Amino acid sequence: MAAEKEAASRRATDAQVLEDAERLIGAWNARQAKRMPMLFSPTIGAAIAAGYWFLWVRCPACRTINAIDLRTLDRHHGAALSSLIPALSCWSCQPNAPFAELVRLSRMSIADEMREEYTARLLGD
Ligand SMILES: [Zn+2]
Repeated sequence: MAAEKEAASRRATDAQVLEDAERLIGAWNARQAKRMPMLFSPTIGAAIAAGYWFLWVRCPACRTINAIDLRTLDRHHGAALSSLIPALSCWSCQPNAPFAELVRLSRMSIADEMREEYTARLLGD
């Protein structure tokens, strides 16, 4: 009985966490798209929980965009995405690479997104 109650309350908490994470990420993505100053950034754990596994980053010097799969990082899930910035500097712009810009969180890698766009075009969507 107690275990059942705990499981039920855990499910409710999970749903709430997911909802909060989705809302937070939506707000963050919208701000990043408008290149607004970063007032907050979601945690790695929030992004993973909500299924936004890919962090898209841009090199301001060569404008290359990369998508980092957050699931593959050995980082604390409570760390903010912005804490990754120093580690995301562009390789081809070394040794003077500027800090990477965080573009957005996405459910898709760049390859997935291109594939989806291509399919949509083929289907005349
Ligand atoms: Zn670069």
